[in-house]
Amino acid sequence: MQDQKLSGRRLDAVVVGAGFGGMYMTHLLVQKGLSVRGFERGDDVGGTWYWNRYPGCRCDVESMEYSYKFSEELQQEWEWSERYSPQPEILAYANHVADRFDLRRHFSFQTSVTAARYCEGDAVWEVETDTGEVIEARYLIMATGCLSAANMPDFPGLETYGGPTYHTGAWPKEGVDFAGKRVGVIGTGSSGIQSIPFIAEQADHLTVFQRTPNFSVPARNMPLDPELAASIKANYAQFRADAYQQPAAFGAHFPRSEDSVLDATPEEREVRFEKYWELGGFVFLSAFEDIGASLETNKFAADFVRKKIGEIVTDPKVADLLCPDTVIGCKRLVADSGYFETYNRANVDLVDVSSSPIERFTPDGLEACGRSFDLDAVVFATGFDAMTGALLRIDIQGRNGLSLRDKWSAGPRTYLGLASAGFPNLFMMTGPGSPSVLANMVTGIEQHAEYIAQAISWADDHKVSAFEAELDAENRWVEIVNLRSEETLYPQCNSWYLGANVPGKPRVFMPFLGFPDYVAMVDEVAAKGYEGFRSG
Ligand code: FAD
Ligand code: NAP
Repeated sequence: MQDQKLSGRRLDAVVVGAGFGGMYMTHLLVQKGLSVRGFERGDDVGGTWYWNRYPGCRCDVESMEYSYKFSEELQQEWEWSERYSPQPEILAYANHVADRFDLRRHFSFQTSVTAARYCEGDAVWEVETDTGEVIEARYLIMATGCLSAANMPDFPGLETYGGPTYHTGAWPKEGVDFAGKRVGVIGTGSSGIQSIPFIAEQADHLTVFQRTPNFSVPARNMPLDPELAASIKANYAQFRADAYQQPAAFGAHFPRSEDSVLDATPEEREVRFEKYWELGGFVFLSAFEDIGASLETNKFAADFVRKKIGEIVTDPKVADLLCPDTVIGCKRLVADSGYFETYNRANVDLVDVSSSPIERFTPDGLEACGRSFDLDAVVFATGFDAMTGALLRIDIQGRNGLSLRDKWSAGPRTYLGLASAGFPNLFMMTGPGSPSVLANMVTGIEQHAEYIAQAISWADDHKVSAFEAELDAENRWVEIVNLRSEETLYPQCNSWYLGANVPGKPRVFMPFLGFPDYVAMVDEVAAKGYEGFRSG
């Protein structure tokens, strides 16, 4: 870093990332009169919605909720066209926000932060970018995203493959034309399940390589009823406040049952599940109060979805392969549009790579299950090095040269999912140990941005130069996060919540469960003068 050119004056803050997190964080800090510079790897704002342009990409939290609430004018003026808006519309919204609040001028685009080092004497961060600049800032805020570091498995022979390859999380801006092509899709998580019906419609032939089947329910996406939107907007503040009290910060309007699945007769269960299946989306898991309570109660919901798959998919062998044998809801439930129906198409094949993995790529395609598949293009819907990936791809060094990679080698350790001991004045947005991916993420982002902005104001008011998580407080927090997950069915599946999708990644449950509890706990910390933070 010493050889690099130190540019400009010392700033108050550097924000890394221009997704919903980085944009709102920057807006708040600029409003407070702080000098801020943002860096973004892409050439514009939007984060997730900038990168994930694959066909069929859309949100799975309804748009009236998956949006900022901080500005009444913004939420009144923006009009969503669909219940779950498609990626281009969400990206247009991000651009609208950037224009409306004049955010772009604070960002350097096409610039990646590669390293950051805390200089103890001056209590500043030296932040290095891939353009060779080094910037000094008092605060470093990582809005680098939970699902922004693509997981690209190391398939043997991939470099020999002659056709084009695409990762869903880095889709070409100009789109991809699969017409007349033999396409392979690897991966059947949300990205695979959303894109497969669209690719199947376009391609000459589609082969889906499935390692683990996933539970998916119909999204029942539809044009957003203008009357419904108007009625929500008429009382938007209350609608948002109600959502804020929900465990995942959305869905207060869902018809939630308080009945136990165990008390229902088989006929009652069937009627109830059918009703919730028809409603579409995550509400399905609210059909009974205790679907997530135990393996016994969960199995009723899982069996219902398996039965549905059997009814939709005409080939019983294919239907069988598509049926997950795990707990429903412990991997992210998918909300689809015609996914299982796609396997009834004559141009779609499903290949089970659960027991024998994809062996190798060849110049013409790939080999799996002892067979060769000729492919003109391959789509990697293989997900992300979630929650920690984007942070650890940056060489971050705190006090005494402590490396974040070393500190987190056995799993992430944070206090409140916001800070890590040994890294003063560094904040993470939706970091591991916060509700993050298990909440409506825009709401989680707003809560974090406001909390961080307030903490910085408090530190400045109290002439604090180094604001840092205490190790004891961090250890207690990690224990709380772990205990909360152990009381649930989440540890039952090999999910990315546990890091299980990336070979060699420590198996640690990363998100904090329960948004309202989290908010209450972090607010109490603030009310007690940022208890658990050392302020030097
Ligand atoms: P991101 O949007 O990921 O933005 C982070 C930005 O940081 C990226 O643009 C990245 O390029 C940049 N960056 C990272 N590292 C560096 C670096 N070193 N230097 C410079 N720039 C860097 N959540 C929901 O709640 N509901 C949904 O319906 C939903 N749907 C999703 C659909 C998809 C396809 C995916 C992948 C995720 C979805 N999510 C959803 C989660 C989604 O990631 C969040 O809702 C939200 O958009 C995250 O915003 P963010 O700003 O925190 O991160
Ligand atoms: P994902 O859920 O992690 O799915 C990745 C898929 O790739 C899995 O099926 C995985 O199989 C498979 N895979 C990975 N490595 C493989 C290998 N070496 N060989 C064969 N298969 C392999 O990733 P994602 O689908 O991108 O979704 C990630 C998250 O982003 C979602 O859970 C959600 O939070 C968000 N998202 C949301 C939406 C939405 O609906 N709004 C859309 C897309 C993404 P295994 O299961 O066996 O590991």
